[in-house]
Amino acid sequence: MEYFQPSIMMTANNHHNLFRGRVALYAILRNLNITKGDYVAIQAFTCIAVPEAILQLGAKPVYIDIEEDGYNMCPVDLKQKLIPRCKAVVVQHTFGIPAKIKDIKSICHRSNLYLIEDCCHSFHSTVNTQLVGTFGTASFHSYEWGKPLALGIGGSYNFNKESNFDSFKYKKPPFHIILKIEIQYLIFKYFYSPKLYWVLKNLFNLFSKVGLVTGNFNNIKPSTNSPEFSWLMSPQVEKRLVHYKKSLKEISKHSVYLLNQYMKLLENTNVTLPILNSGNNNVLCRLPLRVKDKKNLLNSAKKYNVELANWYKTPVHPITDDNYNLIHYIQYSCPNAEQRCKEVISLPLHSSVTYKDVLKISNFLRSYS
Ligand SMILES: *Cc1c(COP(=O)(O)O)cnc(C)c1O
Repeated sequence: MEYFQPSIMMTANNHHNLFRGRVALYAILRNLNITKGDYVAIQAFTCIAVPEAILQLGAKPVYIDIEEDGYNMCPVDLKQKLIPRCKAVVVQHTFGIPAKIKDIKSICHRSNLYLIEDCCHSFHSTVNTQLVGTFGTASFHSYEWGKPLALGIGGSYNFNKESNFDSFKYKKPPFHIILKIEIQYLIFKYFYSPKLYWVLKNLFNLFSKVGLVTGNFNNIKPSTNSPEFSWLMSPQVEKRLVHYKKSLKEISKHSVYLLNQYMKLLENTNVTLPILNSGNNNVLCRLPLRVKDKKNLLNSAKKYNVELANWYKTPVHPITDDNYNLIHYIQYSCPNAEQRCKEVISLPLHSSVTYKDVLKISNFLRSYS
């Protein structure tokens, strides 16, 4: 398999590092003059970071369902839900599985829409031999816990065609925020292993509730007018990005190796493996599986200390149905996404996972049926 250079490896002047992924998406949209009254199409089966960036501009998200047996935007549903004030489409390569980007690109072309790629889950996935992130107008990445390159909190974006002069005046984040990110990063770096997943996850949730760490989700509501949207990447995170981007290829290779082991070990079991197109490179950040009894399985995983993640719990994770109106999601409007939330769990593929972990997790899943 060939590992092409992702956009963040290039030192083009249209690459920008910002406070986090959602801030990068916000910057892309702002640079494309998306404004109040506009709509941006995104997939359901996503996290709050994506609509938050759109709402911050006064624009609104339009939710497109995912494919019936997949995790990415359904091009047919996109065509049906397009409305005149829709200006852009954000395509998410969920878990790193490449979306049907060519079909979506041609819809965007015909309807005169900007195409933005959410590459937060993969650097090296390709469609045939073309790297994700190079199909659209712009792409963005995130570097928080759970992403292929976990550096604390951070994001970046890259424009492909238009030369982009971001004249917005960004600020360095306040000192206490930088400090929080550093503490969080050190804990993650030195304590994290699949065995300690649940312990750390519970601690992380507890600390983020009381404001001691910067969580993936500030609270259960989208924040508008948050100062975060005018912050640069923390200087410490930026230093690590320069240092660790050299290891991207190794990170991706390890993920592919682990994926192949899981696929072999989980063949002919009760779990449903994702459909991966063999003409593409599939460099995943986690391996999603569909299971029958998600709730009990997660409880049991917790008991036996097996790392199973629950992405996504709801179509716009972690927003629950009582708050759908805040993010403009209409219940039952994306049935595939809602169904997927009830049955998906995901397995770790990051650099600290060993073959022994893969065996343990696979054996756990095999015995659970
Ligand atoms: C992590 C993530 C983002 C951005 O998250 P930030 O916390 O803002 O860095 C955006 N989209 C997806 C699909 C993500 O997983």
